[in-house]
Amino acid sequence: MPAVSSPQYDLGRYQQTGVLGAGTFGVVVRAVDPDSLADCPAEVAIKLLPRGELLKNFKTYVTREILHQSCLEHPFIVSIKEVFLTRTHLAIAMEYAQGGDLFRYVLRHKAARLAESQARWIFQQLVIGLDFCHRSGVANRDLKLENMLLDRDGQDGTRPLLKICDFGYSKHEMNSSAKTGVGTPIYMAPEIIYGGNRYDAKAADLWSVGVILFAMLIGRYPFSQRESNVARNIVSATYSLPDDVQVSAPCRDLLARLLVANPSERMSMEEIKVHSWFLEDLPEGALAMNDWYLQSRPVYDQYQGMVEAMVEAAQLPGVPGEPLLSVELECAAH
Ligand code: ATP
Ligand code: MG
Repeated sequence: MPAVSSPQYDLGRYQQTGVLGAGTFGVVVRAVDPDSLADCPAEVAIKLLPRGELLKNFKTYVTREILHQSCLEHPFIVSIKEVFLTRTHLAIAMEYAQGGDLFRYVLRHKAARLAESQARWIFQQLVIGLDFCHRSGVANRDLKLENMLLDRDGQDGTRPLLKICDFGYSKHEMNSSAKTGVGTPIYMAPEIIYGGNRYDAKAADLWSVGVILFAMLIGRYPFSQRESNVARNIVSATYSLPDDVQVSAPCRDLLARLLVANPSERMSMEEIKVHSWFLEDLPEGALAMNDWYLQSRPVYDQYQGMVEAMVEAAQLPGVPGEPLLSVELECAAH
């Protein structure tokens, strides 16, 4: 049988080495940057969004994804290296996370769940990464196991570093407050399920954080789509912990305070950061790192016009032979 080869894309100066995954309307490939400097990793992940009509319909989301993610320079967030146009695609070159996503990581463990100490290590990074997003004014609105990548697969016993990816549904507080019901249903907060009203996107992210913690510990979702009354269970925050899984009292307390239907009674980021379960084994200085990253982050306004112009240009199909347009998004801190 002939070997099945993956489709090859025009990636400008990058050389494609594989296909990593397919998203809602694009594909993510693995590639090498032959011009990368000696101290920079040569491997990248490139998200390819087809130019033309389709992009026109999603331009708000694509603009936000590029703009927000490129302004969030942080160890626990996938960084954007470069954005460019090819004749056929808008290409977003990102830091490559070689450990796969958190969903597959959890599945690889016995009974498809993590021990409490392993779950805490991931949870601490998620909280610190998200605290940085929120303090930068950005809510993610699509936090889920599949959108958490890892720098290594951990099969050698080392603990992976978390990289939050996919800011396609993110929202900056500088713009209007959130109203659109975006996200993935089983991770969606009750106030989004109700629909129609403005909601606090940061509080809704913390609900998803509770769903992620539950799923890592228990190996299933707190609100399963298999149950016919899933929407009712979400809006009343009705979930149960199975008897056969040991979960410590502080961890149960944390879950019970995150999965609270009323967003104004739900645990806040500040409360998570002083909770005893979160603080256990937290590396020294971990909480203070965000103060440093916040000081040196790139300025949002600096990129806005440039990203908008590029997404605008990407809506027209590329003229054959058009030279590659490439814009390096340089961090103001470097
Ligand atoms: P979806 O709508 O399914 O969430 P999407 O279009 O928003 O997809 P992403 O979630 O950003 O796309 O990426 C799709 C998949 O590609 C991810 O689940 C992951 O497996 C892979 N991927 C994305 N970015 C990277 C990266 N930086 N490093 C490694 N793999 C990646
Ligand atoms: Mg995704």
